[in-house]
Amino acid sequence: MQKMVILGATGSIGTSTLSVISVNPEAYSVYALVANTNVDKMLVLCERYKPNVVHMVDTQAALSLQARLDNKLHIEVTTGEDQLNSLVTASCVDTVMAAIVGAAGLVPTLAAVKAGKRVLLANKESLVMSGRLFIEEMRRSGAQVLPVDSEHNAIFQALPESVQQNIGVCELDQAGVSHILLTGSGGPFLTSDLNSLAQMTPAQACQHPNWTMGRKISVDSASMMNKGLEYIEARWLFNASAEQLKVVIHPQSVIHSMVQYRDGSVLAQLGCPDMRTPIAHCLSYPQRTYSGVEPLDFFKVGQLSFLEPDFTRFPCLSLAIEACEQGQEAATVLNAANEISVAAFLNNEINFTDIAKVNEICLSQVEKLNLNSIDDILALDVQTRVYASEWVSKI
Ligand code: NAD
Ligand code: MG
Repeated sequence: MQKMVILGATGSIGTSTLSVISVNPEAYSVYALVANTNVDKMLVLCERYKPNVVHMVDTQAALSLQARLDNKLHIEVTTGEDQLNSLVTASCVDTVMAAIVGAAGLVPTLAAVKAGKRVLLANKESLVMSGRLFIEEMRRSGAQVLPVDSEHNAIFQALPESVQQNIGVCELDQAGVSHILLTGSGGPFLTSDLNSLAQMTPAQACQHPNWTMGRKISVDSASMMNKGLEYIEARWLFNASAEQLKVVIHPQSVIHSMVQYRDGSVLAQLGCPDMRTPIAHCLSYPQRTYSGVEPLDFFKVGQLSFLEPDFTRFPCLSLAIEACEQGQEAATVLNAANEISVAAFLNNEINFTDIAKVNEICLSQVEKLNLNSIDDILALDVQTRVYASEWVSKI
């Protein structure tokens, strides 16, 4: 029985995780659920999953949840940074699903890594922000980090066990790998008229053709910043060089990514676009379990197609690749700028095409720093948010 903490329990990944757990009740137990503000949803989850502890980051939400639970289910409600830290590092906890969205996920995810937990990593932003430090902490504590992001999960599955056991420090070349092919659908604006992009609404940007996800990652998919963040995520997880990593557009989202070997073989992982598959894979690794996902019907799929990414249409993708080359400062800055610009777009404060503009302006201001600690990284994140917000209000 794996005892679990689910960070971001009320979100899209949190919900899919709980769904996989509910079809395998003998294998996983929910020790704690963590969310920000959504009391209504958390109340439903409490009734259904009966966790021992529920943590709400927002103090008002914690108070409201406590009042509404009225101690009927005997669930402890907590709030506050220290309490969250104690929760993810508690000795009774085996596995932490890291599915908070954005930079807010960094501190609790890293706490789980430092405590040597089995960490199922959905929160790509934490790795983008802290790359080397994250991998170092993982090596130091011996934490097992398993990639939930569907592309990275697919790559992980297509790599040999020797590489799987050495996440972050593996030698792709020694394993005979020539390239990692990171696939992406191209999102809802893949074929839209370029002149129409500025007028696209948040609802249109969140209308992903293949996946149902939270709003931030949906906008990132429309701009392909998501693929850019994933590019950086893949560089760290698989210790890949720029030459070893390629982005391929695959509109059907049936292949979730591929590994190309020196001998000409290409191994791909395929499946319906449903996050319960990579989540189930991570939960049960190295075994396999039920996920509740429909088997892939090849006759319905019919065709698979592939395109080269168009950087004029997707400037955020090239910004992320550039940031990755520049180093940790640039990746941290780009991530923070993007969180501000995407939130402003979702709030109807700027146009869709302004997201890339704000991101580019922030990236152009990056200076070489010594980011030696998480505090240094968090300080740069905060500073960039202020700067990006100023640009948002100027636009
Ligand atoms: P979501 O918006 O649906 O859910 C976000 C969750 O994070 C919620 O539970 C929310 O309460 C919590 N949260 C938000 N702000 C918080 C804060 N300040 N402190 C603590 N908790 C906070 O997001 P999602 O789509 O589930 O994505 C979660 C993460 O997983 C993201 O990093 C995303 O990139 C990654 N991911 C998602 C998908 C997907 O299909 N949805 C796929 C791959 C990776
Ligand atoms: Mg992904």
